[in-house]
Amino acid sequence: MMQASDVSRVGVVGAGTMGSGIAHVFALTGVDVRLVDVEPEALDRALDSIGRNLARQVRRQTISAQDAEAALARIAGGGELAVLADAEVVVEAASENPALKFRLFKELSEIVSPETLLASNTSSISITRIASHVDDPARVIGMHFMNPVPVMRLVEVIRGLETSDAAAELTLDLCERLSKTAVPANDYPGFVANRILMPMINEAVYCLMEGVAEAEAVDTVMKLGMNHPMGPLALADLIGLDTCLAIMRVLHAELGDSKYRPCPLLAKYVAAGRLGRKTGRGFYDYAAT
Ligand code: NAD
Repeated sequence: MMQASDVSRVGVVGAGTMGSGIAHVFALTGVDVRLVDVEPEALDRALDSIGRNLARQVRRQTISAQDAEAALARIAGGGELAVLADAEVVVEAASENPALKFRLFKELSEIVSPETLLASNTSSISITRIASHVDDPARVIGMHFMNPVPVMRLVEVIRGLETSDAAAELTLDLCERLSKTAVPANDYPGFVANRILMPMINEAVYCLMEGVAEAEAVDTVMKLGMNHPMGPLALADLIGLDTCLAIMRVLHAELGDSKYRPCPLLAKYVAAGRLGRKTGRGFYDYAAT
């Protein structure tokens, strides 16, 4: 497998929230990025938001106007995986759907060179299972960026059961090239970030359901008492209550421990379509903002 410093062509699959951020940070390091999405509108939105986010960095003087312009020029959109044929690294950030990811990895492994590193940004799907759909599971790894990607420094690097040392080393070096802090983890449900964060959010919802305290009070305790920048209920609204519920269901099903049972109030809000900021209402009301 090649060295991170020699990587010059990166493919990103999925041009949503995460894919656009991943394309942004790779392009700023000087590599050519091909961003693939099945929805042409998603590609348009992604290029638009990358442009706006780069402009913000210029205003804050963290990058020069020339850097921003050059980064944007390095990103090309496409609708077919075939445009990734010569990519040296592919980061998959398509929707969180196991069947979709299994199919994408199988197709990718047939299109790219046998040397290409295949990374997934999944939040909760087993890297080992994704890798089992690829001829050579040694080159499959988890590269779990945090949202918003250009701002957050952490990348969880998750080794599947068969991931090779070379693939892990290349991924850790790539993170360094992106000026991110990589934390190696092994493949267990939720990895580290969501294994700890989601049960905390779930417990905050239990506090609300049981009438231990109002939403604002729960969040104030965690902000002022634990120095968290945001309370867990406000954070759940930001992440999306549907995403929080889906990850709790994965933890519950795959670890089989009742301590991960999703809070019924969380499930009720999702059933009602109160998904948080994206629908204007979750634990808080955003209609006026
Ligand atoms: P999103 O819904 O914003 O974007 C997903 C994109 O994938 C969409 O544009 C969709 O059109 C595209 N897509 C669907 N099928 C495709 C296909 N066959 N080929 C190419 N593109 C396809 O989702 P997101 O929030 O960016 O999440 C993407 C991944 O990142 C998920 O696995 C998620 O679990 C993970 N993740 C999300 C966050 C977060 O905070 N949003 C954080 C860390 C990891």
